[in-house]
Amino acid sequence: MIWKDNAPYALCLSHDVDRVSKQWYHYCFYALKHPLVQWKSLCQKLTGRDPYWNFGRLMDLEKELGVRSTFFFLNEPVRKFSANFMGRYKINNPKVIAIIRELDRQGFEIGLHGSYYSYNTPHMLQQEKATLEEILGHSVVSTRQHHLHFDKNITEELHSQLGLRYDSTYGYSDKVGTQQPFRTAHGLIELPIALMDTVTLNDDVFHSCCEIATRGGLIVLNFHQCHFNPTEYPLNVSMYTKLLKKAKQDGAWIAPVAEIGAWLNEKL
Ligand SMILES: [Zn+2]
Repeated sequence: MIWKDNAPYALCLSHDVDRVSKQWYHYCFYALKHPLVQWKSLCQKLTGRDPYWNFGRLMDLEKELGVRSTFFFLNEPVRKFSANFMGRYKINNPKVIAIIRELDRQGFEIGLHGSYYSYNTPHMLQQEKATLEEILGHSVVSTRQHHLHFDKNITEELHSQLGLRYDSTYGYSDKVGTQQPFRTAHGLIELPIALMDTVTLNDDVFHSCCEIATRGGLIVLNFHQCHFNPTEYPLNVSMYTKLLKKAKQDGAWIAPVAEIGAWLNEKL
């Protein structure tokens, strides 16, 4: 594909905001697997720096490189003792409202991260979108379903009915995905995830992304905000930084979901 300003490929930056504060049950959950790392994380938490609040680190890195990303905010209404719902936060918490508005003010995109059951529950997704828009004071156009929980026959139509224009839910949580954006049957532009930080981040993954770059494709990154912490997830931070710096060096077009989506809307 020929990208904007003849860039050799496009890198789309995004972050799901699943959690904003590390809780005691997160420590219990991970303690047996990584006791030393969890101890370091707990020390960090006790000194007043929450390991799951990494907005500043992401903003600083992206601003330093002159780029912006999309932050998909989750507003999970369901309470259940299950991994799918662990760490839910209140979107109307003053601290969360403040960071949403600050990100928006600084040119980052705010997207909708539809809750676990919203993929086939219209009133639920509609309410989550309305709440986010009320906080922002303007409309939201990009979306991604939490846990990639999606039904092609239902969710695409639902997104279209709610006036969403760009989706980035297609993709995998355990391997590198596709490079090819497309238009859905209901008219949205789909920007499939190429790499999510839940994949084992090694040299092979980096080379797979380089191959997409060589073919002139679209690389959509989804690196969770809560895991952008070098104490606990050093590979997440180093892989994201490495891909970003390479794209910058290569002269790739680096942008958030809505910016690339709007451009593709004219082409597809
Ligand atoms: Zn999520």
